Amino acid sequence: MKLIRLDRFIAETAGLTRSQARQAVKNGQVKVNEQPIKKGDQKVDPEKDRISLKGQILRYEPYIYIMLHKPRGVVSATTDPRDRTVVDGVETFGHAVFPVGRLDKDTEGLLLLTDDGQLAHNLLAPGKHVDKTYYALLDREVGEKEISLFKEGLDIGDARKTLPACLKTAGQTEDGFAVRITIREGRFHQIKRMFHAVGAEVLFLKRERMGSLTLDEALRPGQYRQLTEEELSKLQQYNKRRVLHENCQ
Ligand code: URA
Repeated sequence: MKLIRLDRFIAETAGLTRSQARQAVKNGQVKVNEQPIKKGDQKVDPEKDRISLKGQILRYEPYIYIMLHKPRGVVSATTDPRDRTVVDGVETFGHAVFPVGRLDKDTEGLLLLTDDGQLAHNLLAPGKHVDKTYYALLDREVGEKEISLFKEGLDIGDARKTLPACLKTAGQTEDGFAVRITIREGRFHQIKRMFHAVGAEVLFLKRERMGSLTLDEALRPGQYRQLTEEELSKLQQYNKRRVLHENCQ
């Protein structure tokens, strides 16, 4: 691993701002290989040097994994000339994160932000067929007919029909007819186009799950947190095991 400045290392691993990190170094709270160091611009090797802050060993995480409850009105990109993006305002401790897949601007819910390209590839590659579950409100009631059409696969105007999808009704609310739908692909506007193909319009759409990762309901739209170790290891294993589409009963 390449050498980096000590104050940068402290900031990124301890979640401090650069100036807080510089101050901690100046105050003598930082040791490198047991030696107190007072110069923030000293270069360190994050893999080899033993660096501590107030006696706590700090480790450089090669990647970061953030669960975001994407709010409506922001775009699934890292930069945009007009709109707010899903990475704006998210503390990433110096990691250049990107969203794993896209949700439409008016869709909310689970979005993983990371800089781990391999995990992103494993979750998104078409052949992996990772399940994604959405909650939707529709403008009309759907039932057995739509459930079996979704299960068979639908012509939504692409070269191929959609893969079998699992549709479940979830009652009626003041704002529309609720459903849950699990798909294994990630085509452009896929859910909206699937319902459109059976004569229903999506009024509200929220992603609740991607593979083994479920949206933490404690997160309000716009809030985020890092994945727990358990969530991350399940997500990594999920791909390896290539769990198949849940039984759609
Ligand atoms: N399907 C859609 O139509 N929109 C999304 O944001 C995700 C899936």
